[in-house]
Amino acid sequence: MTFNDNVGLDTSQVQSGGSGGGYGGGGARRGGIAVGGIGGIIIMILTAIFGGNLLGSSGTSNALDNTSEVSSNSGAITDQFSECKTGADANSNDTCRVIATVNSVQNFWSGYLPKYGQNYTPASTVIYSGRTQSGCGTATADMGPFYCPLDQKVYVDVSFYQELSSKYGADTGALAKEYVIAHEYGHHIQNILGVLGASQQDPQGANSASVRTELQADCYAGLWVRYASQTTDSQGNVFIPDITDTDIKSALSAAAAVGDDHIQAQATGRVRPDTFTHGTSAQRQKWFYTGYSTGDLNRCDTFNAASLG
Ligand SMILES: [Zn+2]
Repeated sequence: MTFNDNVGLDTSQVQSGGSGGGYGGGGARRGGIAVGGIGGIIIMILTAIFGGNLLGSSGTSNALDNTSEVSSNSGAITDQFSECKTGADANSNDTCRVIATVNSVQNFWSGYLPKYGQNYTPASTVIYSGRTQSGCGTATADMGPFYCPLDQKVYVDVSFYQELSSKYGADTGALAKEYVIAHEYGHHIQNILGVLGASQQDPQGANSASVRTELQADCYAGLWVRYASQTTDSQGNVFIPDITDTDIKSALSAAAAVGDDHIQAQATGRVRPDTFTHGTSAQRQKWFYTGYSTGDLNRCDTFNAASLG
């Protein structure tokens, strides 16, 4: 979706994760990572739930061994995103687009969630390049965007957008990119609502809690799109003046691109529903569209849906 050229971006909602490529934490992912990424693998919380040392006994003891806050170099943040000031910047620069999307998504949820008796608590997005440390272990670009419930942050390497179209086959439209961010914030909503843990108990299979969790996050992304044209910045400027059929087509193409059946068929030529974690392309499109077309949080109850398809 195209942002209003004049809407102001709030860069305080994002952080730079830098591009710390050089440290020797090869075992960093071993401790387990809680993510509900947009597609691909999910590695669930194992030992890390109370913030243990994710680098384990690998012996390295540089500052990055501390998993708490690598991205807290707040002094540099303002400078880091100085090119992202307005919606016009978001329309021409993918990093700025992430920031504008984060702003819009969070403003939407802070107004919408109280209608359902819950308060929204903000979550930062860490924009990084290559790799960075998250509260759930090392984040690398090939993992795709994900949400870490332990530090309540979304992690995104903007280079994923290239892969989303070239590797997975989504179209290159703006809403394809924005849907990815909105999906990850859907996991944050699930965390607030206390349902995110279910996917860890039942992590794979066509009807698993993991698939239901992912499809619900898609539905929540659709809710944001439904109300995006009514969501404003602090000055009352609308973020996204209107949503076109082409936008919706882009979102649906992204949802289809990250379906388990599509990813598996592309990677191995075989589709194995017993290993599904995110749902099929058709299911992901269906639930995104359910959120978008109904605008009702309660219609996103994938956990009690008789049929996911
Ligand atoms: Zn997810």
